Amino acid sequence: MELTAVSVVGSTGSIGTQSLEVIAANPDRFRVVALGARRSIDALADQARRFHPDVVAVEDETSARKLRETIPDDIDVLAGPDGLVAISQLGDTVLNGVVGFAGLPVTLAALESGKRLALANKESLIAGGPVVQRARKTTGAEIVPVDSEHCAIHQCLNTAPRGSDSSGVARLLVTASGGPFRGRSRSEMARVSVEDALAHPTWSMGKKITIDSSTLMNKGLEVIEAHELFGLPFDRIDVVVHPQSIVHSMVEFSDGATIAQLSHPDMRLPIGYAIGWPKRLKTPFGAIDWSKDIELTFERVDRELFSCLDLAYSAGREGRSAPAWLNAADEVAVAAFLDARIAWLQIADVVAETLDAWSGEDMTSVDDVLRADRDARRCAEAAIVRHEKAA
Ligand code: MG
Repeated sequence: MELTAVSVVGSTGSIGTQSLEVIAANPDRFRVVALGARRSIDALADQARRFHPDVVAVEDETSARKLRETIPDDIDVLAGPDGLVAISQLGDTVLNGVVGFAGLPVTLAALESGKRLALANKESLIAGGPVVQRARKTTGAEIVPVDSEHCAIHQCLNTAPRGSDSSGVARLLVTASGGPFRGRSRSEMARVSVEDALAHPTWSMGKKITIDSSTLMNKGLEVIEAHELFGLPFDRIDVVVHPQSIVHSMVEFSDGATIAQLSHPDMRLPIGYAIGWPKRLKTPFGAIDWSKDIELTFERVDRELFSCLDLAYSAGREGRSAPAWLNAADEVAVAAFLDARIAWLQIADVVAETLDAWSGEDMTSVDDVLRADRDARRCAEAAIVRHEKAA
């Protein structure tokens, strides 16, 4: 079988390194054609020696020079932000594991050059939704999500016969672990500490996303992501709390059937699915041992305590640059919470006050996305200062 050429952008981050584990475990399926990272030059050099891609890209010229000295001569080294964009146009599949806004040009370059995009960069779809949708219309461009919930939905949808418009999808059910504060009362939450919020019960992740899981903002952002990916209206996307994080999401069909994807939390499964699509890998990640007892429970979301969820729904319904504002406001609010400038309950307040200042502008270019992000950050910072003064 012919090898799939994969360009791994953001190769030294958590998703990038796990992608390379998946690729290393499947040498009969994949070949690494390019690697790219913004920093972490030593890790990148190790990866280049091990996987021997055609091209490696880094963000600055000094790092590029250092790299050229330490890796084999026949590997090209590109420098600058254009380097990451250049390697996003290589191979059959581009894995976008870049963190933050720097991932948006990677997404656009991959789609515009008609590549299959294994997408782990959330900002692309949440902040840059309207811009990415246009690039997605390029012939051959296809997004296969790496985010575990969306990957699960992709898998459930593909149980329906292809090529028919009567797929019968009634609703998407995005599952949420509920985070560390599931079942708490509002008064208990008034004095919650940063450490409490950082203790996620099932997934181990970066600080920002762990706090987002504690407020359910992560789920709100994922609802917007699901809307952008699968095109369903917001009233047909629901969130269900499922504390065990075994069911990664579900699709309910018009005949009453619900299809779910189950596995233990292990990002290598969605990564392998996305880069291997449409053919499944032979190496299992996160497989469940059904000879043991297993309990799966589901509950409704406490929408009053986790008000970030409805803020995300309303920003999603507004569309245009509102999701970009939501995303930026949340980033600023979470950073302020981590710095002990505001309390946990005020994260939602800051986001709500920022969205109140949103002026309803459209978004058609990357510059518009960056401007929306800047404006929202300024409003969020002002809201935080108001809260600090009131405290
Ligand atoms: Mg997720």
